[in-house]
Amino acid sequence: MKAIVDCNSFYASCERLFKPSLNNKPVVVLSNNDGCIVSRTDEAKALGIQMAGPYFQNKKEIEQNNVAVFSSNYHLYGDMSKRVMDTLKMLSPAVEVYSVDESFLDLAGIDEAKLYEYSLYLKHTTELWTGIPVSVGVAPTKVLSKIANRLAKKDKAGTKGVMILQTAEQQMEALKKTAVEDIWGVGYANSKKLQLFNINTAWDLKNMSEEWARKNLGGVVGVRLIKELNGMPCIEMKDPLTTKKMIATTRMFGKRIYTLQEIKEAVATYISRAAEKLRRQNGAAGSLSIFLVSNNNTSYDQYAPSSQSAYINLPIATYLTNTLISHAMPLVESLFNEGGCYIKAGVILGKIVPCETIQYNLFEPEEKLFAKKLMHTVDNINFSMRNDLIKFARSGTTKNWKMRQEKRSKQFTTRWDELFLVK
Ligand SMILES: [Mg+2]
Repeated sequence: MKAIVDCNSFYASCERLFKPSLNNKPVVVLSNNDGCIVSRTDEAKALGIQMAGPYFQNKKEIEQNNVAVFSSNYHLYGDMSKRVMDTLKMLSPAVEVYSVDESFLDLAGIDEAKLYEYSLYLKHTTELWTGIPVSVGVAPTKVLSKIANRLAKKDKAGTKGVMILQTAEQQMEALKKTAVEDIWGVGYANSKKLQLFNINTAWDLKNMSEEWARKNLGGVVGVRLIKELNGMPCIEMKDPLTTKKMIATTRMFGKRIYTLQEIKEAVATYISRAAEKLRRQNGAAGSLSIFLVSNNNTSYDQYAPSSQSAYINLPIATYLTNTLISHAMPLVESLFNEGGCYIKAGVILGKIVPCETIQYNLFEPEEKLFAKKLMHTVDNINFSMRNDLIKFARSGTTKNWKMRQEKRSKQFTTRWDELFLVK
């Protein structure tokens, strides 16, 4: 059996943890630049506030109902996520962290008669140790466990936040209650297509043949989905030791920008962030891509952004921020158009290899040890004090392009000067 443990309204729950007066009150968290709503508590959902809805469209509703609003505080969420995942890893032998707020657990070895007890234990311990509420779904396959989790979350009072789909009857009941668009991996476009075949629930889909799925549901992917719905595992647990092959940092700017200087500062800053992540997984990047997104229409009605990108293979894989920045700047220059109006930029580090396996050559001697030590020291200072306390000059000093975060809470768990005060 497999379980998925998913944090309830994760970002909003992190905010509530440090502001308990918001318990049982509606809370929403906004995306970058305070654009859209990306996390809602049950109370906010009950008010009809839509996921991914633009903030300005919901503003009236939010103000009338006294909904607490926060900008994204990724340092806080990242740290709380790590605490939740570390807890699960202590309680369970095999954990695959699937996203910032979800993990799959392989329950092989857990007594099948005690799955419910074990799941409750997972839930209560995680909540006790971290303060973040979670829901648990258990089933023979990953797709079914996601369905179980969704139902547990929808009826927290009835299920106590845990749902086990062990028997054929339990699975049938759950599948009949689940619309096709709510199945993991189906998506909106596919669900519209399925409805043309009169397939409306997960139960309808489960009863389709593999042959049919091969023809009408994307070949192998569709066959896998049908098998998973029938309790035959096809999507295996991923090895938790595998590291990311690609690291991306992209952001919308807080305002439109027009100068090469500012774009270079932004790209250098994003490279610094991506390189930190790279070093955290002890990797080195073999390729670098940069992209810029511009929108030259002055009217928002004619919103038609265009994107330009450039890519290079690095002569030698590297984890050094300054080396990456110096490779990136000519790319930015080649992409930049005078007179363009830029709204977003991004950096992707690719072809990532472990640091130990970097291939040096006669003309490029091994990077001196002090460079690695220097990066390590900079990372430690920036992580514990504040981002960019130490940075490369190319990142600039004014950051006029920085995204808006007007309602961000403090970084209670990762910054000495923002620690939570108990009066
Ligand atoms: Mg969640």
